[in-house]
Amino acid sequence: MRARLFYFPVMTALLHRSETIAEAAPAPKPSLAGMTKAELLQALALAEVPESQRKMRAAQLWNWVYARGAQNFSDLTNIAKTLRGGLDARFTLARPEIAAEQISEDGTRKWLLRLEPQRPGERAPEIETVYIPEPDRGTLCISSQVGCTLTCTFCHTGTQKLVRNLTAAEIVGQILVARDRIGDWPGASAPADGRGIPEAERKITNIVLMGMGEPLYNFENVKAAAAVASDPDALAFSKRRITLSTSGVVPMIGRAGAEMGVMLAISLHAVRDELRDELVPINRKYPIAELLAACRAYPGLSNARRITFEYVMLKGINDSVAEAKELVRLLAGIPAKINLIPFNAWPGAPYECSDWAQIERFADIVNRAGYASPIRTPRGRDIMAACGQLKSASEKLRASALRNKAAAGAGA
Ligand code: SAH
Ligand code: SF4
Repeated sequence: MRARLFYFPVMTALLHRSETIAEAAPAPKPSLAGMTKAELLQALALAEVPESQRKMRAAQLWNWVYARGAQNFSDLTNIAKTLRGGLDARFTLARPEIAAEQISEDGTRKWLLRLEPQRPGERAPEIETVYIPEPDRGTLCISSQVGCTLTCTFCHTGTQKLVRNLTAAEIVGQILVARDRIGDWPGASAPADGRGIPEAERKITNIVLMGMGEPLYNFENVKAAAAVASDPDALAFSKRRITLSTSGVVPMIGRAGAEMGVMLAISLHAVRDELRDELVPINRKYPIAELLAACRAYPGLSNARRITFEYVMLKGINDSVAEAKELVRLLAGIPAKINLIPFNAWPGAPYECSDWAQIERFADIVNRAGYASPIRTPRGRDIMAACGQLKSASEKLRASALRNKAAAGAGA
């Protein structure tokens, strides 16, 4: 409720904003925050830094931007004033704009970020990023696309029409925004409300690509962003703490392991092709047997580096005891973790969450087969921040405006 009161005025402002279309204004100055090493080197060339100095300067910027969270060129004290001025004239250190911030009763935080349109006339796209604090860790759930082209029937993001790939900078930018807002830079302080923020030195310990979009449909940009996130001189997340979740883009799974080396999560959700074809329609292209073969061949797979299989609990659809047994049988021999996700409802969703007793019965079978603590506690449901509830706010507004219009028409 509290979050809603905060949200509403922002949403009203958004409604006006989403009606304005970007005009052909002069291109904004690019931001260095979010750039890859190669892009930084190019930026330094544009700023007329002599070639012999570029590598050293790029390393300095890399450290300021990604290890210390600098937001102003004046903070860059080990860089000469003239160069700082030159950079300031051509670039910014800006992050994606925060259109709204919501804080759940349970401390989960959700940011609606407004991105730059990529061409004149494009509506400014929006994405959501979610921070889930726990006493001993903090997980940041980031998006890889605006919306999603796939149409999994239980997922709110899949109902969104507007879709585009995020750039690497927009993917990295989500991590920077979150670290800014929760004070997760060296010497920074936690937000005044402090709700749920762990005491630990690093407040974000894990990154999961489980927000909006299918990361393996945006492979190159996700890979570039993962490189910045895992570089020990940049954002410094261990690759074991970065998890990419895919609905099952089989041809890209091996490449994700070989080229990114991150942990893998698979949105399985059904144990029979007939049902998975319906719930996760990409299954019609890459059925369960092919998906599991790609998992068995995942580079670096071991008992210490297991694949997480996600299974959303849908009442009367995929939650029977027989299906739990079949799940265990299917995964035999794959170093795996199983995450049972209670279904998170959204307006108009065609499913209900399984009863708790049934989830526990299912979990028991999975547990007895040797998979530990498999039920994922829903977080941030009061602010629609839980798995599968994300959808750009302007899209929601357009949808509700359409519904209102239809209702008004029906009443007339
Ligand atoms: N596109 C990727 C990553 C984003 S979805 C994928 O599908 O894996 C992240 C996880 O949330 C996936 O396992 C997805 O199946 C799950 N999910 C989607 N909608 C959900 C809902 N309404 N309730 C619970 N989990 C959901
Ligand atoms: Fe896309 Fe994942 Fe949602 Fe399916 S579950 S529609 S792949 S975001």
